[in-house]
Amino acid sequence: MATIFDKILSGEIPSHKVYEDDLVYSFLDINPLSRGHTLVIPREAKARVHELSDESCAAIGRALPRICRAVLKATGAEDYNILQNNGAPAHQAVFHVHFHIIPKFNDAGLGVGWKPGSLQAQDAEALLAAMHEHLSSEG
Ligand code: 5GP
Repeated sequence: MATIFDKILSGEIPSHKVYEDDLVYSFLDINPLSRGHTLVIPREAKARVHELSDESCAAIGRALPRICRAVLKATGAEDYNILQNNGAPAHQAVFHVHFHIIPKFNDAGLGVGWKPGSLQAQDAEALLAAMHEHLSSEG
């Protein structure tokens, strides 16, 4: 299903372009958590990261640090978060993959509620067995 980001990619809706190449587009977030809050998206229309092609992921991996450097230079920020939400319960509102680059200035930026548990050895083994089986099946 088409999202607002498809309309941004097609130019139907305007955006403040930060960067583009054949596979990646980047623009300022319309409701920034802090000054310089920037979004980085693949042109490929997929909702979640695990659905993306290797080509899109590689292109994002190449562009992301470059765009981070531009955000830091433009804002003077030294610290930042990269946020990437997958699924509505995980706070995804736009169902086209996007990475947030959010500069952190004192109170401005991303607030993180982090409630860590404790990794149990037996569960770690079970997780690794399932993950390794899946990874080897992907080749
Ligand atoms: P999510 O919660 O899905 O990770 O974040 C979606 C982000 O997209 C939000 O930070 C929101 O402000 C941004 N956003 C939604 N619609 C538009 C738009 O039309 N233009 C721009 N530039 N950003 C948008």
